Amino acid sequence: VLLIDNFTTMSIKFLHKFATNLPSDTIEENYTRQVPKAAFSYVKPRIPSHPKLIHISKEVQNLIGFSDDFIQSETFLQLVSGAEIISNAKPFAMNYAGHQFGNWAGQLGDGRAIVLGEIEHNNQVFTLQLKGAGATPYSRRADGLAVLRSSIREHLCSEAMFNLGVPTTRSLSLISTGDEVLRDVMYNGNPAMEKGAIVCRIAPSFIRFGSFELFSSQNDIENLKLLADYTISNYYTEIQVEGKEKYIEFFNNVAENTREMIVHWQRVGFVHGVMNTDNMSIHGITIDYGPYGWLEDYNPNWTPNTTDAEGKRYRFGNQANIALWNLYQLANALYPLIEEAEPLENILNTFAKKYDEDFSEMMWRKLGITSKKEENDQLIQQLLYNLEQTETDYTIFFRNLNQIHKTDSVEDCISKINFAFYKPEEVTGIILETWHFWFAQYLTILKEETASDNERKSQINSVNPKYVLRNYMAQTAIELAEKEDYSLVDELYTLLLNPYNEQPEFEKWFAKRPDWARQKIGSSMLSCSS
Ligand code: AMP
Ligand code: MG
Repeated sequence: VLLIDNFTTMSIKFLHKFATNLPSDTIEENYTRQVPKAAFSYVKPRIPSHPKLIHISKEVQNLIGFSDDFIQSETFLQLVSGAEIISNAKPFAMNYAGHQFGNWAGQLGDGRAIVLGEIEHNNQVFTLQLKGAGATPYSRRADGLAVLRSSIREHLCSEAMFNLGVPTTRSLSLISTGDEVLRDVMYNGNPAMEKGAIVCRIAPSFIRFGSFELFSSQNDIENLKLLADYTISNYYTEIQVEGKEKYIEFFNNVAENTREMIVHWQRVGFVHGVMNTDNMSIHGITIDYGPYGWLEDYNPNWTPNTTDAEGKRYRFGNQANIALWNLYQLANALYPLIEEAEPLENILNTFAKKYDEDFSEMMWRKLGITSKKEENDQLIQQLLYNLEQTETDYTIFFRNLNQIHKTDSVEDCISKINFAFYKPEEVTGIILETWHFWFAQYLTILKEETASDNERKSQINSVNPKYVLRNYMAQTAIELAEKEDYSLVDELYTLLLNPYNEQPEFEKWFAKRPDWARQKIGSSMLSCSS
C-alpha cells in the first residue's frame, strides 16, 4: 500500500454520544483496577513501533464514508493503529461484567479494545473500536495486545459473516504493529513471540449483555437505567412506550434479535466458541471472533474451542440454549427496572418455542421446500441423524442439493451429494439404506412442490453458501501472512464477498477439510489465546 502523506482535507468528527451520556471513570491514569459506577475509562492507545496496513474492507470503507485518499493517508494509518489520536477523538475502554462458562466473573471490561468514537455517515451512527491497541484499566493480568493470527481471523470472519447475511460487527482494517507479542498458543508451557496486529471494528455500539450486568451487580440502579435509556433511545428507537413497559419491550427486542442471529449461525454452520455474556451484543449481532469455527462434518457436539473441550458448553448444537441462558442473565440484570418477573419470564418461556419454529422454517429453506411443513418435520430430524451418522460435510451437502431433480432416482441423489461424504467408501449397507429412505421421502415432497427444479435451485443457492471460511483456509492464510505474504488474506476476503455465488475461479475452496487439517491447531481446534 502506497502511503501519501498529503492528506489534509477530510475531517472526521467524532460524536461522543456514549461518553457524554454515560458516567466515566474519574481516574484517567491507566492501571489495572476495579472501576465502580462508571461505564468506561478514558485511555490512550499504545503507540505501535512500525504500523503497516495489511488489509482494508472496501465495503466497510464505503459504508462509513471514508474516501480512498483518506484510506491511503498517513493519518488513516495513525487512526487505525492507535499511533496518534486524530481529530477530536477521545478514546475510551468500556466497562462491563459477565458470566464466563456459566460462572459469574464480575468486572471484565475492554482489556484490549479501545473505542475511538462514533461517527455519522448517511444518517447512520458507527462506533469505531481498535482491538489489540494496548492495556486498559480492564486488562487484568494480560497485555492488551492481539496477535496477527487472531486478528486475521476476526477481520476475515466479520466480513464473511456479513456477506452471508449474518448480523455481525464489521471490520474496517487489519494492520500489523511491528511489535512482538508473547503467547502460549495451547496454554501448555510453550510461549513464543508472535507478530502483533490491530483490527478496527465497526458496530452501532459495543454495548453487551455484560454492560447491564455490571451496574445491576453493583446495585447501581441509576446507571443501569441510564444505560438502558441510552441504548433504547439510540438503538431501539421503535420502542415508544414509557415506564417499565419500555424495558420489557427492550428485553423482548433483544431476545428476538438474539434468536434470529442464532438461527443464522445454525444455517451457515458457525460455532462462536465463547458465548459468555460479555460476548453477547445488545444488538443481537455476532461479536468477538475468538476460537470460533465452521462445521465441516456435521456434528452438533463439536466446538472448536479447546478451552471448552471438557464441558462443550458452547458446542454447535447448544448455541440456542446458551443464548437463552444468557438472556436469563440479562433479564436478571434488567429486573430492577421492571420489578416484575412475569413479563420477563413470558418472553424467556416463548424463546424455545419460537426458536424451534424458526429453526425448522430455516431448515426447510435449506432443503428448498416451501410447502407441507409441519407434518414432515420428522424429515429434518432424520436428516440431522443421518448427517451425524455418516461423516458429511455440512456446507457441501446442502449446497449440492441444488443439483437434484424431481425426476431423479434415490441413487442419482446419493451420487450428487456423494462429494459431501468424508468416507464415501463407508456409505454402504444399513447407512446407505437410511440415506435411500431419506431421499425417497425428500423426492416425494419435491414432486408435490409447484416450484420447478430451476426455481428450487436458486432458492437453495440463496440460503446454502458455497463458500465459508473453513478453519484450515484461515489457518493457511495465517501461515503465509506470518511470512508477510498477504495474498491469501486478499483471496479469501474476495472469495467470501460472494459466498452464495459459484465463482468457478475459486472452485478449489469448495472442498472438504483436507486430512492434514483434521487435528491441526488452528485448523480444527483453537484455544482462547489470541
Ligand atoms: P474474550 O474471551 O476474548 O472475550 O475475553 C474476555 C475478557 O478478557 C475481556 O474482558 C477481554 O478484554 C479480556 N482479554 C482477552 N485478551 C486480552 C489481552 N490480551 N489483554 C487484555 N485483556 C484481554
Ligand atoms: Mg470478549
